[in-house]
Amino acid sequence: MTKVIHNFNAGPSILPKEVFEAASKAVLNFNDTGLSILEIGHRTSLFQPVMNEARSLVKELMGLGDKHEVLFLHGGASTQFMQVPMNLLNENDIASYTETGTWAGKAIKEARLFGHVEIAGSSKTENYTCIPDELSVSPTAAYLHITTNETIAGTQWHAIPYDCGVPLVADMSSDILSRQLDFNRFDLIYAGAQKNMGAAGVNLLVVNKEILGKVTRTIPTILDYRNHIAEGSMLNTPPVFAVYVVLLTLRWLKSQGGVAAIENRNREKANLFYNTLDALPLFHGPVATPDRSWMNAVFVMKDPALEQEFMDWCKKENMVGIKGHRSVGGFRVSMYNALTIDSVKALTDLMKEFATKKG
Ligand SMILES: *Cc1c(COP(=O)(O)O)cnc(C)c1O
Repeated sequence: MTKVIHNFNAGPSILPKEVFEAASKAVLNFNDTGLSILEIGHRTSLFQPVMNEARSLVKELMGLGDKHEVLFLHGGASTQFMQVPMNLLNENDIASYTETGTWAGKAIKEARLFGHVEIAGSSKTENYTCIPDELSVSPTAAYLHITTNETIAGTQWHAIPYDCGVPLVADMSSDILSRQLDFNRFDLIYAGAQKNMGAAGVNLLVVNKEILGKVTRTIPTILDYRNHIAEGSMLNTPPVFAVYVVLLTLRWLKSQGGVAAIENRNREKANLFYNTLDALPLFHGPVATPDRSWMNAVFVMKDPALEQEFMDWCKKENMVGIKGHRSVGGFRVSMYNALTIDSVKALTDLMKEFATKKG
């Protein structure tokens, strides 16, 4: 019997076992063709259906209407930090950004290369332990950018500023398809696949066509969203294997009941974790309660001298990926879609046991 490992990695991270099994099978023999998925042309009748199904499953799972296009692009979400302003922001115009942590900060830095950036709201002085509750967005801004889930800080937007008055752009890398949102009210959504929907190497991009074509700069062919739309996400060779893993994950998500069903499970996992955290004075969660992330929970021990011992306990119980990000310290547990409530229960049981022993 293989041992049970509780995988709390932040990214790349846990995916359903069924996905790993189907993906490895396809490497050896894709759809009983006798060929590996790694050795077939992307424009063949073998691969084209993979791309088509992946795009249409995203539309179905997100409930997207006709205005929105779904693309799979190369590179991580970090590529979108520059590709978004390159496609949407004129040199003399303003883009509005919310400053909520490391990832938002990186997006802001790149946007400044293309135009003016205003900070619509910031939690920097609170050390990114909350989501700003008041936003100030210029009505002339090209768009408002939010990071729906700050993977490192452990915060999440639970009230989306849909009515900001300008196109809404979101980095959803670490909470994509984890909860129900009004996806049609976003004008652009991007997400690196490796946190919640697949393997590293591919980006999901959902874009409202109507916001494109408004910048005056010359955009290099491969970076212009319109070219990817025109070519059905096949402008050049897509990251075929990564797209296939995304397709498998989307099929799995649908089989689980879709986004509504997974949201319920994610809510249940987060409640179990945070209720335990709040009940044990030995532990402390720095994030403001209403802004806590359901995906990435960060916490420390009130007595830092105990942290290593708790870490060792976790290790002994086959819990991986719980060490906090180097910039925050302490612990971070990621509870992405594929993580079972049993893993969260194993962790919370261990926390209780540890608290009893030390308390
Ligand atoms: C991981 C992450 C990124 C960066 O993704 P890469 O694929 O490594 O470029 C960007 N934004 C958020 C919110 C993330 O969690």
